[in-house]
Amino acid sequence: MAKKRFKVESSCPQCGCSAVAHLSEEEIKEKYGDVANVHMECGECMLKYSSPMASACPEWDEACKMKTK
Ligand SMILES: [Zn+2]
Repeated sequence: MAKKRFKVESSCPQCGCSAVAHLSEEEIKEKYGDVANVHMECGECMLKYSSPMASACPEWDEACKMKTK
């Protein structure tokens, strides 16, 4: 059974390098929990930054809200 994977996308504010990760629901929860911001580390300049979940992964943001009571 294939699990749905969410595309989490963001770009580094310092060098503009973009990062894309494909994560399952479990992986997102484990990595980011229910926070509104995703924490990313740029693979180019190693800058740690956060990006709003709503823009990094609108799909997850929506799915997340649907489950929130
Ligand atoms: Zn960077």
